[in-house]
Amino acid sequence: MKVKDPVCHMTVDTDKTPHKSERGGERFYFCSAACRVRFESEGRK
Ligand SMILES: [Zn+2]
Repeated sequence: MKVKDPVCHMTVDTDKTPHKSERGGERFYFCSAACRVRFESEGRK
């Protein structure tokens, strides 16, 4: 499945990327570890 990286808005293939995170029961996928780290640090409130 193709989804959008919420950090850089690049299209990511969920079957291929090892970079994922979960928030509020929703799963997010990223193009890189850097995007995942950024998402996780920015989303923390
Ligand atoms: Zn990205």
